[in-house]
Amino acid sequence: MFGRRSFLEALASTPVLSALLPATALAATKRDIIRELGVRTFINAAGTYTALTASIMPPEVMQAMQTAWPQYVSLVELQTKVGERLAQLLKCESAMVTSGAAGALTVGTAGCVTGKDPKAILQLPDTTGLKSQVIMQKSHRFGYDHAVTATGVKIVEIETEAELEAAAGPSTAMMLFFNDAEPRGRIDNAGWVRLGKKLGIPTFVDAAADTPPVENLWKYTGMGYDLVAFSGGKGIRGPQSAGLLLGRKDLIEAARLNTSPNGTTISRGMKVNKEEMVGMLAAVDRFVKLDHAAERREWDRRADVIRKAAVKLKSVESDVVVPPIANNVPHLRIKWDPAVIKLTPQEAMKKLREGSPSIEACPMTNREWLVFGVWMMQKGDAEVVAKRTVELLKSAMV
Ligand SMILES: *Cc1c(COP(=O)(O)O)cnc(C)c1O
Repeated sequence: MFGRRSFLEALASTPVLSALLPATALAATKRDIIRELGVRTFINAAGTYTALTASIMPPEVMQAMQTAWPQYVSLVELQTKVGERLAQLLKCESAMVTSGAAGALTVGTAGCVTGKDPKAILQLPDTTGLKSQVIMQKSHRFGYDHAVTATGVKIVEIETEAELEAAAGPSTAMMLFFNDAEPRGRIDNAGWVRLGKKLGIPTFVDAAADTPPVENLWKYTGMGYDLVAFSGGKGIRGPQSAGLLLGRKDLIEAARLNTSPNGTTISRGMKVNKEEMVGMLAAVDRFVKLDHAAERREWDRRADVIRKAAVKLKSVESDVVVPPIANNVPHLRIKWDPAVIKLTPQEAMKKLREGSPSIEACPMTNREWLVFGVWMMQKGDAEVVAKRTVELLKSAMV
């Protein structure tokens, strides 16, 4: 015999019957594996960090994925049609959904190396006889360039225009620019594109974390970059395992040949299925239509709630900083006199994590400042963070 719960579960698992159940009964039977496993959940006062699962997909993204779920399609046909719609929405020649921005770096680089040559595609990561070098400014080297060298290419570092022109040659596959590093390099975005065109080498910019502003989604292709990478699951709030590769049609076609569903390719392990493809399209569609000014006002409000509560305490100071390129959104910073409040910002971060509800502060927290990213918080979170932060600082007062 069924108990009430297992009876509801059996009904809920039968699509025709589950339609007859009231929503409340269905909610009661929903399996919560995160709870079952006892995995810690927390308020995200950090930002779009992969290790913290980064962002929460809006309902219209989940709905698009769920609608796609029980339908078989040709993955290649879906990839083509999703790419065409993305290219329209983002005002570029061509587009594809990748396995994150890191996946976009790998498949985009592979496309630059092999073009559409089946023998070259099969040969990677062995680049013998192929274009085997990617040029970068020394100050632009970053952790994610591992996704580029994973194809087998070697990175050649340059600093000046003259060094770039000397390094460029028949074995140069591509010139990579790290957007967030622009202020640190001698050659800026416009110069990079100009030199690429002059030398006949494809240019690629990693702008993974650089939305908002939304206009960045067409700014870099508009400037003349041949390829642009964005994360799907950061500010755009698409599937966390998705990304965007935008740019030149022939290069995107070549990139697609280097990845799933094609079996014998360097990026076969960077598979993207239909749910991520349609989810990414739904997320971009939502993001380009979003009231970004209203979003910003809400982030400012959250920062204000926490700031106002904190500065009532003795010696506490607080401000809001907006990083200029990546994560270009308000971050709240709080500091205090350690002689008045006996706690370092890093200790505060740890205590917030270990408290209830658990709160993850921003990893930008340092010796001086406790930092909160407010943009990925959910309704009511700012008020809880304000209350818990005040309690914590008060408890450490001498
Ligand atoms: C986050 C990030 C990536 C990786 O993005 P995923 O979408 O997680 O693959 C790559 N490059 C930069 C600059 C990033 O900030």
